[in-house]
Amino acid sequence: MNTEKSAALYARAVEVMPGGNSRTAVYSSPYPVYIRSGSGARVTDADGVERLDFLNNSTTLIHGHAHPELVKAIAEAVGRGTSFGMPTPVEVEYAEALTARNETFEHVRFTSSGTEAVMMAIQAARAHTRRPKIAKIAGAYHGAYDAVAVNNDGSGSLISHAVTGNPEGVVANTVVIPFNDPEGALAVLREHAADLACVLIDPVPWRIGLVPADKEYLDALRAFCDESGAVLISDEVGSYRVGYHGALRLLGGEADLTVLGKVVGGGMPIGAVAGRREVMRVFDPSQGAPALPHSGSYNANPVSMASGVASLRLLTPEAVERIGELGERLRTAMRGTIEETGLDWRVNGLGSLFRVLATSAPEGYASPAAAMKRLYWVLLDHGVHIGDSGLGCVSTPMGDAEVEEFGAAFGASLRQVLA
Ligand code: PLP
Repeated sequence: MNTEKSAALYARAVEVMPGGNSRTAVYSSPYPVYIRSGSGARVTDADGVERLDFLNNSTTLIHGHAHPELVKAIAEAVGRGTSFGMPTPVEVEYAEALTARNETFEHVRFTSSGTEAVMMAIQAARAHTRRPKIAKIAGAYHGAYDAVAVNNDGSGSLISHAVTGNPEGVVANTVVIPFNDPEGALAVLREHAADLACVLIDPVPWRIGLVPADKEYLDALRAFCDESGAVLISDEVGSYRVGYHGALRLLGGEADLTVLGKVVGGGMPIGAVAGRREVMRVFDPSQGAPALPHSGSYNANPVSMASGVASLRLLTPEAVERIGELGERLRTAMRGTIEETGLDWRVNGLGSLFRVLATSAPEGYASPAAAMKRLYWVLLDHGVHIGDSGLGCVSTPMGDAEVEEFGAAFGASLRQVLA
């Protein structure tokens, strides 16, 4: 595989950035493949090699790369000015478009990333309940905010534990519950009920294997929140794309607050907290002190808003269904290939999302990273890009041809890994 220019770029990068870049997930040993451009379902690397992109910036780019309608919307918005410190009409338009997609999204607030939106949802729950603690699913990923970084190492451990640099107080205020185990989760939640501001879930948590939450589990968490007054927060930054109304609705649940990001920004930086007015009112300065301060120079910037409007317009129920069907075909094809090779691996996912796990354990805590990284490099050599965790997704520019191309590359790569 010719990656000469990527190697040269990385040699320069490590001189000026720790690990050579600004995002842990793109670090790759011995060096990452640098991307020059993307168009539709494909990306071209620094050495001029074109590949099918099934990672789409960690599942963000639901319309693939440089979609003409998004490019147009973004270019026009940039031409009108990029931010003002005053509200813009397109923020209102986007808020209307988003709230129309799910009746639990009564009010919405915008941020510049999913991480910030998770942070603001938690702060809103704390301000609403005047309680300090949060509960999250063991091993689940919710971005870089320190309160949710607790126990996000994918170990599946049920003990709240720090990631590097996490203060004791933060760890003590983050309670960890087991996934898809209603009784186990309720036992922990009841112990902390009086102090819990929120229960934070991802209905299809990718870090712990992209297994959808069971209805029984969701019902138990909903009932607990109704009884205790804790706010149920559904983090759908990654999983919103599985259903037109979002992931939780598809699985039969209902949240008080939903955190959105990634696909709803059409490729521009975005995050949103959407939910019940009763909770969202903590953001409203007109309600008097103590409203929750929510600052951010780029919140609701008109470029992300315009891109978001265009992205949602393209994300019709039919589009969501079509890429969901392609996702199901991909998963079935991968499972067939894995079975043929006799490997004890799994493919999980829902709708347009998939994750390959180098283990038969359903929740993927035990998926050996080395096996998946090897598959990642071999797949790249066969012209296909997925995440080195096995994460991938279908984008709307894809169709039968891309699914078939993926299937052939996956089969050839897996046989090469085994050889
Ligand atoms: N929450 C979930 C479930 C995510 O998957 C992510 C990002 O991958 C985030 C939050 C953080 O979003 P962002 O990367 O936009 O900060």
